[in-house]
Amino acid sequence: MDINATTNIYGIFGHPVSHSLSPLMHNRAFDELGLNCVYLGFDINPGELSSAVSAIKTLNVKGINITIPHKEAMVKQLDDLTEPVILTGAVNTIKNENGRLVGYNTDVPGVMRAIKEEFNFDPQFKTAFIIGAGGASRAVIAGMCLGGIRQIVIVNRTKSKAELLKTQFNDQYPNVIFKTLSLDDSKKLKSLISESDIIVNSSSAGMGDIPPLDLPLETIANDSPVYDLVYKPTLTPLVKQARKLGLKAESGLSMLLYQGVEAFEIWTEKKAPVESMREALFNSQ
Ligand code: NAP
Repeated sequence: MDINATTNIYGIFGHPVSHSLSPLMHNRAFDELGLNCVYLGFDINPGELSSAVSAIKTLNVKGINITIPHKEAMVKQLDDLTEPVILTGAVNTIKNENGRLVGYNTDVPGVMRAIKEEFNFDPQFKTAFIIGAGGASRAVIAGMCLGGIRQIVIVNRTKSKAELLKTQFNDQYPNVIFKTLSLDDSKKLKSLISESDIIVNSSSAGMGDIPPLDLPLETIANDSPVYDLVYKPTLTPLVKQARKLGLKAESGLSMLLYQGVEAFEIWTEKKAPVESMREALFNSQ
């Protein structure tokens, strides 16, 4: 990679950011396409977000990814918002269009592309069983709604948060049936999981030292797949449990890949070298 005075700068704002795999993936893609671009990590304190946003304009940074804890706070700082940002209230990609900062949420198409690729899953007229009610869950619910889902069951440890999401999305998508459930309601859990066409974990359960979920996967009907957004460890406890029962199950590295692919294509208006990006990401594990 030859960096010079005309190199275009891209990067990620987070706090912390040193663990991010996005620089690996995007620098590999720039290299593959021979683009004079570089992607860096920027550790931004929450109190410094506005000045970091001004710096995007001042330094003519071309594009930025946003990760924890800035995804929601960043929305207010932008000049234009795309529909998935409005739906989720969160932004993970910014494009600098001649000084106007446009916000995207590529987690939304990213997760849908991942489950399409992993399981050939099309949400139209289906029922999804979604665990979690945080930022990642909003991206999954938005993707499912945009894809024409019929019913969504939102299951969360804290049921009131699931109800809040139901209210927000029901306003936007009155034709979708939303049900909410507490994770410890084992009887309803069994019956609703058995009626679902896909099970998606978008909670942090099973990530690192956080205890895994205890779901009655044995009641899953037919060949409904299990997708776990968690990707640390790569083989998550949920994926292990599901595969033991003979179910199709994958962890969230493919979502990480496709949110990056979507961001790359927005920034460069070129087709992303998906296989090189995948290799960069999967070889890092
Ligand atoms: P968040 O906003 O903090 O939400 C966390 C969610 O996890 C909440 O619903 C919380 O329930 C639940 N939770 C936490 N600990 C739990 C436990 N021990 N048992 C059951 N539920 C638990 O986080 P987020 O941004 O949505 O991220 C959630 C997960 O998705 C993380 O593991 C993150 O790495 C992953 N993720 C992956 C990708 C990808 O590209 N693959 C993208 C985004 C996020 P309460 O409401 O009860 O607290």
